[in-house]
Amino acid sequence: MSDATAPQQSNLDLDVVIIGAGVSGLYALHRIRAMGLSVKVLEAGDGVGGTWYWNRYPGCRCDVESLEYSYSFDSDLQQEWEWPERYGTQPEILRYVNHVADRHDLRRDVVFETRVTSAHFDEAARQWVIGTERGESHRARFCVMATGNLSTPRVPDVKGLENFEGKWYHTGLWPHEGVDFSGLRVGSIGTGSSGVQSIPIIAAQAAHLTVFQRTPQFSLPARNAPMDKTTEARHKAEYDDRRQAAYDTPFGIAGYPPPSQSALEVSAEEREAAYESKWAEGGSISFLYTYNDLFTSREANETACEFVRQKIRETVKDPETAEKLTPYDHPIGTKRLILDTGYFETYNRETVDLVDVRKAPIEEITAKGLRLADGSEYELDALVFATGFDAMTGALRDIEMSNGRGLTIQEKWEGGPRCYLGLAMAGFPNLFMITGPQSPSVKAQMILGAEQHTDWIVDCLTHMREHGHSRFEVTQQAEDAWVEHNNEVANRTLYPLANSWYVGANIPGKPRVFMPYVGGFDRFKRTCDEIAAKGYEGFEMGGGEAVAAE
Ligand code: NAP
Repeated sequence: MSDATAPQQSNLDLDVVIIGAGVSGLYALHRIRAMGLSVKVLEAGDGVGGTWYWNRYPGCRCDVESLEYSYSFDSDLQQEWEWPERYGTQPEILRYVNHVADRHDLRRDVVFETRVTSAHFDEAARQWVIGTERGESHRARFCVMATGNLSTPRVPDVKGLENFEGKWYHTGLWPHEGVDFSGLRVGSIGTGSSGVQSIPIIAAQAAHLTVFQRTPQFSLPARNAPMDKTTEARHKAEYDDRRQAAYDTPFGIAGYPPPSQSALEVSAEEREAAYESKWAEGGSISFLYTYNDLFTSREANETACEFVRQKIRETVKDPETAEKLTPYDHPIGTKRLILDTGYFETYNRETVDLVDVRKAPIEEITAKGLRLADGSEYELDALVFATGFDAMTGALRDIEMSNGRGLTIQEKWEGGPRCYLGLAMAGFPNLFMITGPQSPSVKAQMILGAEQHTDWIVDCLTHMREHGHSRFEVTQQAEDAWVEHNNEVANRTLYPLANSWYVGANIPGKPRVFMPYVGGFDRFKRTCDEIAAKGYEGFEMGGGEAVAAE
């Protein structure tokens, strides 16, 4: 779907520039434009949708239920929209985002095919100067980074890729026209959410599939199904209340009462029955909410791990393959818990092989396939990298960004990201982020998180306008305290134990810092609201000329 209708626009002079036309950037445009400010979105792709625009790999589907994973700001839309399945597919979600863009006439203020390469703050003019790949230089008084948390796809640095004679793909940069693997010998590297979703579909099409796995992961059945009309009707009848209630939950999703029992205070039989019922229900929150200490007690968590391990052993017929697929190296839930459709069953196909590349890493991609460190070679016609993203910080660090006083983002984040509420940073005036590092972001329902951040930003801009301020900057003290709180909260959980992209462990050399806020979306929102109520505590505001005119 191409909607690149906007002509090249050079040297815009705006009140606000938003980078990225995903779900965050579009809602920010909608709200900020309604303030009467001049605003444009700069978007690298030729269409809206962000994640859902780029990730077109087979099987791509959201792991949050479709009745939840949608905007809450348009009550009529949430009543009218009919999601065909329990979990939205990528094409369906992209259709939805396009509909929102049209319904709210957003496209006219999105400049497509415009990749931002630099952002410098011009202190004298009090403007951000935004450079693009096409050589434009736009100016704006405020910059809103809606660049996404999982938007910088990463192909590992393996030698020889340029020599490969077949075609290769990254799940996060999938060709729009799709890929036909029929009759091919395919290799797939990576077994995170993208790999686990695409492997069963590729396996069904390809002549042969070899999966190269470094770390086995826990995955639960999604139990996707056509939308149940009774569930849908009930949900729609309560939609506004449910959205409101979602703000008071740790994950931004209502309907999951917090568990009150420890996994260790019930009998083994009772525990087994509880996990079994959650397994049958499908979904990750419900499973991880079986007991109240699965994220804090290793011993409690181990009971859930062992339940899932046993399921893998029961599903995969070849015991050796089953053992290779069984995770032991991290507590369940401390890496993004995957939801799958027939993933483990796929290894019962004659045409699918699993290769452990932990023991013998991939040494070289050759003209005909790839070779491992133990000398074994695999002949392949096509190669799929489901190897993930430079998460949470990659998109901002890819922009040459400086504050006009000699500080670059690369220097500021040298030891890992440092932000205040994931919304702004000390040293970078008039710059907001939506769901930046140290906000709940990927640990909550992303769309609700984007709405909450945007609403907060709009309130902040309104406050500045009312008080005649044109410049804000976060204090170092406020940022330091928030980063410390973020770390404290994470360290009380089992999360930091996993070598996950949450801590940047998937990128060689990336500083190990726990990036999302895991103190709960509810607590985070209350903190944001209190900070606003105290006149934007931690923000120094000033300047003469106020935030632009009505
Ligand atoms: P990911 O979780 O980071 O998984 C990447 C996989 O590639 C891992 O198995 C990793 O192994 C492997 N890998 C990386 N470099 C490798 C190398 N040099 N050799 C061998 N294996 C290598 O990435 P992802 O699957 O794209 O998912 C990222 C996140 O996006 C998810 O956690 C989720 O939040 C989101 N997502 C969501 C959905 C959904 O809603 N259903 C779907 C897709 C993605 P190691 O584990 O050993 O590093």
